Amino acid sequence: MAGYREVLDNIGKACQLAGRKREAVQLVAVSKTYSEEDIMPLLEAGHRCFGENRVQESQQKWPALKQQFPDIELHLIGPLQSNKTADAVALFDVIHTVDRPKIAKALSKEMASQQKFPKLLVQVNTGEETQKAGILPGELPSFLDACQQDYGLSVEGLMCIPPVDEESALHFALLGKMAKRHGLPGLSMGMSSDYEKAVRLGSTFARVGTAIFGKRD
Ligand SMILES: *Cc1c(COP(=O)(O)O)cnc(C)c1O
Repeated sequence: MAGYREVLDNIGKACQLAGRKREAVQLVAVSKTYSEEDIMPLLEAGHRCFGENRVQESQQKWPALKQQFPDIELHLIGPLQSNKTADAVALFDVIHTVDRPKIAKALSKEMASQQKFPKLLVQVNTGEETQKAGILPGELPSFLDACQQDYGLSVEGLMCIPPVDEESALHFALLGKMAKRHGLPGLSMGMSSDYEKAVRLGSTFARVGTAIFGKRD
């Protein structure tokens, strides 16, 4: 729990430095690979916002915990396959990784049929890396249009994972600019190594795993 407390503390300080309200930033505790047992202390301390990167792993872990703590808020932060959209819509409250028209279309259909409406963020490939998911910055305007016009989706924000070998602040600033240009309030950025920087640059969802739970195997 020392890690958790420290991360909360650091987010508070970063907000103060940036003149931001603390309530503007949500800590998404990334619990992927960690068990119910590892997660329980955070739940008992009152933390409710968690992130997972795999639908299947989440289905095994979270339904039982949700029964015990109904106000848990689950965030999908990993890539979504179209054959998993139904499960994702059923389980998650926020999906950070809308990254192509096929997924937008599948989400739209599922949300309508389940009458369940998770918040949606579009992942942007700010580093234009070939191996990385996300909409290219140049294609963002037309993709956001398509989400709204063609699929009737309301997008609440943008998410990015900066290239490992580049200064992440540049990517956070770029993502912030794009969100502002499109009037989107949500910014999912910052991980264990750079969440304080991300918070200073406007992050509203800090996705932190290792700094809370320790190093994954
Ligand atoms: C695993 C993961 C995180 C958390 O990474 P840490 O370095 O452990 O904080 C954040 N975002 C995404 C998309 C992840 O997959």
